[in-house]
Amino acid sequence: MRLAGKVALVTGGSLGIGQAVALLYAREGAKVAICGRGRQALEETVRQIAAEGGTASAFEANVSDKAQVDRMIAGVQEQWGTIDILVNNAGICDPAPFLAITEEQWDRHMDINVKGTFLVSQGVARFMVERGVRGSIIHMSSVNGLAAEADQVHYNATKSAMINMGMSMALELAPLGIRVNSLCPGFIETRLTKPAIDGPHIGSILSSIPMARVGQPDEIASGAVFLASDESRYMTGQTLVIDGGQLIKLA
Ligand code: NAP
Repeated sequence: MRLAGKVALVTGGSLGIGQAVALLYAREGAKVAICGRGRQALEETVRQIAAEGGTASAFEANVSDKAQVDRMIAGVQEQWGTIDILVNNAGICDPAPFLAITEEQWDRHMDINVKGTFLVSQGVARFMVERGVRGSIIHMSSVNGLAAEADQVHYNATKSAMINMGMSMALELAPLGIRVNSLCPGFIETRLTKPAIDGPHIGSILSSIPMARVGQPDEIASGAVFLASDESRYMTGQTLVIDGGQLIKLA
């Protein structure tokens, strides 16, 4: 098992990509704490992990609320004494044309995707430094952080911000033994992409992907195991793209 003895915190671990990461981390031997806002999905994921013989714990927390983030980080420490791996996966995407994006939509994307990543990262990194933990932090960015897509100016800006936040954190944290990398999924089948998968433009989306299919959450989770494990021990400040070849294709 590649993560035996480790403790991981996966934000947004109740559904979609985060849930797949939590399940695979547990299969690889980690104790996994997950957070989200919806209790029912959190409990269901903890049950699933336990049914496979893994160890998991749920924290109802909104990553954009500092008090809730601090409580969650303290709760994981209290329960398992350490945090070795953090996956900043919680995120939202609510598409809208640039000319129609409201200030409220802009702020909500920034609050959850960017401020949330900052708050959880800083809290966990402070703990890691205090305790001398040689940890791994992973930001769940997106191919949309590296390329443009219409109707997602607000979302794309948050995903680019996460990549640079990761590089800049990596620079300061490398001497302290903490690695920080970003993972950029392409088009993955989850609640977030369901409207697009069921929508009229799915044909053109698939034709933009050289592998001509939608990706599955477990195909991102395997990258998250690599970035969390010792296999990537000389890697920091980097971006791992898993997208069926979407980014290499000219529009
Ligand atoms: P999803 O199925 O909608 O799951 C999102 C998860 O984040 C849920 O567990 C959700 O739980 C949680 N979450 C959302 N807002 C939160 C908040 N404020 N505080 C705490 N938890 C919160 O989405 P997904 O497709 O798996 O996406 C996961 C991440 O991958 C996102 O960062 C997304 O940008 C990124 N990504 C996705 C794709 C894709 O094609 N699916 C591609 C590239 C990148 P609650 O709603 O209950 O809080």
